[in-house]
Amino acid sequence: MDDRITEKLKILADAAKYDVSCSSSGGKRKNDNKGLGNAEGMGICHSYTEDGRCVSLLKILLTNFCIYDCAYCVTRKSNDIKRAAFTVQEVVDLTINFYRRNYIEGLFLSSGIFKDADYTMERLVRVAKKLRKEHKFNGYIHLKTIPGASEELIKEAGLYADRLSVNIELPSEKSLQQLAPEKNYSEILLPMSNIQKQLMQAQEEKKLFKATPIFAPAGQSTQLIVGASVENDHQILQLSDQLYKGYNLKRVYYSGYVPISNDSRLPVIHEPPIIRENRIYQADWLMRFYGFNVQEIVDEQNPNLDLQIDPKLGWALRNRHFFPVEINTADYEMILRVPGVGVKSAKKIVSARRFAQLNFEHLRQMGVVLKRAKYFITCQSKSLQRQDFDSQAIKRRILFGDGAVRSTLLTQQLDLFRQVG
Ligand code: SF4
Repeated sequence: MDDRITEKLKILADAAKYDVSCSSSGGKRKNDNKGLGNAEGMGICHSYTEDGRCVSLLKILLTNFCIYDCAYCVTRKSNDIKRAAFTVQEVVDLTINFYRRNYIEGLFLSSGIFKDADYTMERLVRVAKKLRKEHKFNGYIHLKTIPGASEELIKEAGLYADRLSVNIELPSEKSLQQLAPEKNYSEILLPMSNIQKQLMQAQEEKKLFKATPIFAPAGQSTQLIVGASVENDHQILQLSDQLYKGYNLKRVYYSGYVPISNDSRLPVIHEPPIIRENRIYQADWLMRFYGFNVQEIVDEQNPNLDLQIDPKLGWALRNRHFFPVEINTADYEMILRVPGVGVKSAKKIVSARRFAQLNFEHLRQMGVVLKRAKYFITCQSKSLQRQDFDSQAIKRRILFGDGAVRSTLLTQQLDLFRQVG
């Protein structure tokens, strides 16, 4: 690879790492020639295909020139950084080159907006089209769609890309106006709605005509930045819920705001809010796979997730009246709500109990985390734990262990004796 391309790759892979749809990018682990593998391969990250396979992708921007000035973005026009742009052919060559060397199985391509939305989108589409048509490339392609790009271009993008995504970035129109004033919600939601329309149309036509061309078979996704604006977890999760239901999104990705800008409109933080991001992902998981609705997880009175415990445990502690659940008779939906029981173990429980009454040892073997579940279940009417602890006591025991709680109680009792004495 010549030096000019290497330099571009360095700049444009680095700028792409803030998009979290490919979660392993940005790793810093180097190989000092004593070990095997190297996580520092420029622009190489991992993502998941529709059937759950993990694939390595070349993740780059077409350019980090941008006419917009979004406060939270490293690529914003007012940021004094080195700029670069690939040509369409350079991205195609790099992809094919890396693919042939077995470095990657696909491409994740995004871009700053140069000139205007259509001009940029047209180039992204050309990369995908060339790969598919001229090189018969069958690897995975994820294209970002540019807010404001025309319906025709987005339609064409879906013919070549496996997945399309439109980043919402900020959870409300008001925050968008403050931090990304050149953007607006309708420009972002319109392409999302067009993609959804095309996806549904392609599905319907496929039923009638086998030869109907596929359209973005891995669906669409988006990214929300957490912590750059004032919205609470309730507002963020409500928006995600609307996006899943209204636009049939495959995934909403959450990205803790990385403090890369000293713009006075942004909050002063020193590290990305990783724990909050993680709790929001867990809540999102509960909505998609565990049958929870947003209001059960967070509401107007408790708008933010408890950072100390996962949201499923939080719900169970607020709703002790549903527990204990008898594992041998409760319905699947309720078993799924027991802390320490995942989707796999809930399914195993329901299928195994048709043949025998289950006990705690069976549950342990099925992967149930009894350390958490024991406060919320009975097996054949027996309990592993006293059921009369209040929610705070259970939380302490789960967080610090029974031993730690006992020693705290002992200390408190000794303090009490001292005070009485
Ligand atoms: S339009 Fe995209 S690339 Fe440009 S500044 Fe805004 S977020 Fe960054």
